[in-house]
Amino acid sequence: MSGHASDAAFALAGVDYRIGSIDILSGITLEVKYGRVLALVGPNGAGKSSLLSLLTRDARPAAGSIELDGRPVHDYSARELSRRRAVLLQSNQVAFSFTAREVVEMGRAPWTGLDHGNDETAIREALVRADVLHLADRAFSSLSGGEKARVSLARVLAQDTAIIMLDEPTAALDLRHQEDVLQLTRRLAALGRAVIVVLHDLSLAAAYADDVAIISEGRLNALGAPDEIFTEDRISDVYGISVRVIADPETGRPVVLPRRA
Ligand code: ADP
Ligand code: MG
Repeated sequence: MSGHASDAAFALAGVDYRIGSIDILSGITLEVKYGRVLALVGPNGAGKSSLLSLLTRDARPAAGSIELDGRPVHDYSARELSRRRAVLLQSNQVAFSFTAREVVEMGRAPWTGLDHGNDETAIREALVRADVLHLADRAFSSLSGGEKARVSLARVLAQDTAIIMLDEPTAALDLRHQEDVLQLTRRLAALGRAVIVVLHDLSLAAAYADDVAIISEGRLNALGAPDEIFTEDRISDVYGISVRVIADPETGRPVVLPRRA
């Protein structure tokens, strides 16, 4: 995207997050950059979704600072935020009996009354990119888990924001659609968008992400290029399971395999 003072979409410094007296996240310092795909990985309960909720401002840090485009995230109005970033939450619950197309239309709401592209075009493009055009007139509630996830992804794409956050977008998806979603994140990054994607499949993260952040027990365990930080020792330590890391013979990217006796 043009017109940004720096290439950082988000800058976090010394961020702590607590729920009641429980430390959920501690001392998180990192930058999320435009034009890059950042994969957030880590064990269940490590704090990945919590970190996203701080970025979306659904939660407030107990300490530290979070800046969006160089301004404290808390300085933005809700409407401004909805034009800057779109979020695919881990659970894609939709109330009432909306069709898939109506769910995707909701992504356009932040732009109502503004000159920001053609709604019909944006909705159609989003349906095509998420491979759900054929489901447009189906009731959302009647869709399979993977179909719902892709329709929810289309809603995020229709919002057409510079920052896209996806919390486990591939969890319910088959092999081809997992690859499709990650290829889509690459295309978004190539357009200058900042993409943050929570993934459990470390090989998928390694194949597509520019940067990987490993969250473990509420702390940033490592941040860097996948081939630098996905070492056997680190992954075995973080996940409590012995793994082997090999290089994909075609791409050279790391592939993570549990050691099976
Ligand atoms: P992840 O997305 O990495 O699996 P979460 O960010 O959802 O993890 O959760 C991080 C930790 O915060 C977990 O231990 C979870 O149980 C805890 N947690 C989340 N919400 C609450 C809550 N409302 N009250 C207490 N603990 C919570
Ligand atoms: Mg989560």
